[in-house]
Amino acid sequence: MPESTFAHHYVALRAAARWVHGEAEAFDGHVLAAILAAALTEAEAPGVCVADGLGLSPAEISRLLECHFPGYAVSRLDGLAPGVPSEEETLLADLLLAHRSGPEPVSSWLASLIARRAMRPDHLWQDLGLNDRGELNRLLARHFRTLHAGNTGNMRWKKYFYRVLCEAEGFSLCAAPSCSVCSDFIDCFGAEDGLSRLAGLRRRIEEAA
Ligand code: SF4
Repeated sequence: MPESTFAHHYVALRAAARWVHGEAEAFDGHVLAAILAAALTEAEAPGVCVADGLGLSPAEISRLLECHFPGYAVSRLDGLAPGVPSEEETLLADLLLAHRSGPEPVSSWLASLIARRAMRPDHLWQDLGLNDRGELNRLLARHFRTLHAGNTGNMRWKKYFYRVLCEAEGFSLCAAPSCSVCSDFIDCFGAEDGLSRLAGLRRRIEEAA
């Protein structure tokens, strides 16, 4: 995902954001702008529509923009519907919906957005366009409190979601009897670090200077 394109979309959305009350609403605005910017960046590629990167219908995207980014030109968006969600995405969206704890409709939108973005290949916080894993923790604690509280071992978030979904179906993704003797330990609990899209852009600008 080109960092400069992501930064362009993120800045345009933030400039169009509505006035908010307090830090928590400002954080929601940042999160929504980051996710939208990630999808808008993907949609620069031929054959990719914005809704595909969001998992929301064009009507829901319009409503989200009207509520949170009223100054954003909706004409910049295509009106195409998202592709059909996979079974995995649907299960994850349902899991998130069952744990909603934040203001509506933001928590419901985020359930769909996170489920769609989680189908991307990077760490979840990177797929969402966030700055670091700490922001993802804050997002989950605010909007999906009980699900967040269950990850007591600080497992990687995608792994944790799949573990919860597997357990709900009555089976386990674990090949070992305990984490301490498991060869997949790093996959489950390794650091979710890396550069954010904006940090990557900053580094490239510094290297070019
Ligand atoms: S480290 Fe191994 S045992 Fe622990 S949750 Fe991951 S797969 Fe299961």
